[in-house]
Amino acid sequence: MNPNAVFERHPDLYYSDGDVVLAVKQTTKPDKLEDPPMYTLFRVDKLMLKRHSVTFANFFADADAAPTEVYDGVPLAEMHGDKAEDFALLLNYLYHPYSLVFKRHDPNTPLTISGVVRLADKYLIQPLHHCLVQQVCNDWPTTLDEYDIQQAELDKFLQVSRAHPFPKYTPDRGRLADAIPEPVSAILFAQEFGCPQILPAAFYSLSLIPLSDDWGNNSDWPHPARDHPLARWSLLDKENLLRYTHGCQMLNEYRPDVWRFMCEECAIQPGPLDVPGCKPVPCGLYIKRLFEVVWNPGLRVSVTHGDPLRLLTRCLKYDEMPELSKENFPHRLCEECYQTVFFRLLGERVRVWDMLRKWFNLKLE
Ligand SMILES: [Zn+2]
Repeated sequence: MNPNAVFERHPDLYYSDGDVVLAVKQTTKPDKLEDPPMYTLFRVDKLMLKRHSVTFANFFADADAAPTEVYDGVPLAEMHGDKAEDFALLLNYLYHPYSLVFKRHDPNTPLTISGVVRLADKYLIQPLHHCLVQQVCNDWPTTLDEYDIQQAELDKFLQVSRAHPFPKYTPDRGRLADAIPEPVSAILFAQEFGCPQILPAAFYSLSLIPLSDDWGNNSDWPHPARDHPLARWSLLDKENLLRYTHGCQMLNEYRPDVWRFMCEECAIQPGPLDVPGCKPVPCGLYIKRLFEVVWNPGLRVSVTHGDPLRLLTRCLKYDEMPELSKENFPHRLCEECYQTVFFRLLGERVRVWDMLRKWFNLKLE
C-alpha cells in the first residue's frame, strides 16, 4: 500500500473484534494532485465474508499464504478497484440484512444500488444480486394488468396529492418526480443487470415524458416541473434515445382501425366509410366518431403522444359520450357491434401492450 495513504475508519463497519481490516480507496478526488490517496477502513470478520462469498474465501486464503501488512493488530488488505461507498453498502447488507428494505417507488433506487449489484457480481454473492434486482423490478409492472393497477394507484395518488392548495407529493413537499419511479435509471439498470421484463413499462412511461422535462429542471415555466414526471435524460445513451424516439413516433401515429371493432355482419357490408357514393355503415360511422372524440388532440396528457392505453380505456365509456348521443347518432350501434366494440377495445389494449416490444425495439430474451 502507498506508505503516505491516509486512513479513515468507517463509523459503523469497523468492529473492534473483527479479524481483518479491508482498505477501499475513496473516489472523491484529492484537492491537490500531490495529496495522498484516502482510504476507508472496514474492520470485519473473515468467516462472515467467507460464508457469503467464495471469492472472499479465495482472497483470504491467498492473503493468509503471503505476508501481509498489519493495521491495528490485524492483517490489512486493500480491495483494488472497489468504491468505498459501494463497498460500505455491500458490507452493510451482509451485516444487517434487515436494512435491505427500500422505499417503494423511490426514483433513486436503481442508481443507489447499481454499484452494490456490481460488487455482488464481482464477489459472487448471487442471493444479494437477486434481492437487489428484485427491489427495482418491484416498482415496475410486467403485465398489462399490473400496469393498469399501478396507473389506477398513480391516478389516485395524484388526485389526493393535488387536493392540497400546494400539491403534496412527499411528506417534505418534494416534487412528483421524487415520489414515482424514474424510467431512465430503471432502463439502464434493467439492461445491465438482466431484468428486461420491466423494459416495456419503463419505456412506455418514458415515452410520455418530453425531453424538456428533465430531472434537473426545477423551473416554473412553461409549467411547474415539480408537478410533472421527469426523466434523467442526460444518462440516456444513443441507442436508447433511438428506442424512445421510435416508440414515441409509433404511439403518436397509432390509431385503432375502425373495421376491427365492428361485428362480422357490419364489417362485410359494402359501404366503406369514406368512399363517395357508397352508403356508410352506421356502426362504422359511430365507431369512427368515437375514436375522433377520444383522440382529440386537445385532450392529450403529453405532448409526445396521446397515451393509447389510456385512450382505449376511455373509449369503453362510448355509451356515456354526449358526442355519440342518440340525437347525433340515431342508429347508435347494432346489438352485435355494441358487444363487439367493448370486447375488441379490451383486446386492442392487450395488442398495444404486446406491440410495445416491437415499437421500442426491445430484445426481451
Ligand atoms: Zn353493427
